[in-house]
Amino acid sequence: MTESPRLSRRHFLGGLTALAAAAAVPHVASPAYASGRRPPRIYSAREWGARPPADALTRIAERPNKIIIHHTAFPNVEDFSLEYAFQNSRDIQNLHMDGNGWSDSGQHFTNSRGGFITEGRTGSLNALRSGRYMIQGAHCVGQNTQAIGIENDGSYHLGDPVPQAQWDSLVAFCVYACDNYRIPATEIYGHMDFNATQCPGGLHERLPELRAAVQARL
Ligand SMILES: [Zn+2]
Repeated sequence: MTESPRLSRRHFLGGLTALAAAAAVPHVASPAYASGRRPPRIYSAREWGARPPADALTRIAERPNKIIIHHTAFPNVEDFSLEYAFQNSRDIQNLHMDGNGWSDSGQHFTNSRGGFITEGRTGSLNALRSGRYMIQGAHCVGQNTQAIGIENDGSYHLGDPVPQAQWDSLVAFCVYACDNYRIPATEIYGHMDFNATQCPGGLHERLPELRAAVQARL
């Protein structure tokens, strides 16, 4: 979770809106993906129906040097669908823009409990695909100009396990991001490594496992 005061998510829950025409968007392979493997499917902000940013976002003309893992601290839903991943992305954006007053979603990417990865802050996906620059985030004080942040939906500070699909997509995302941005697998951290927070809960204990799984595939 981001470090701003948490507001009630319920307040921002609206009715389900129509899904973006995800299937109509062709998969764009990244020319920068050094391994030559197929990149993981990452749904763009346009696909999940993001609002435009409230202000101009800042483009950092350098590669990030680390990945920071978060959890949303939202309830551990059992809805593992793509529709829920999209709705959750909209809920987070509404919370960050309307509740926190931010320009856009604070995190660069979001990983649902069903294992669907979505773009958070607008432009983060094109930046990642380029492998050359990043969009300044709002997910971890002191690291927003040098770390990309991924929110894993759920609350993992009370012992609940991370669904296997979510774990697998997190590994796949980190492999892709480390490869494209030339970030060593050792440079994957948890939010609590930098700020006073319980985020990302039990995922923090699994960072050594995550780094090893990513390293094995790089
Ligand atoms: Zn966090």
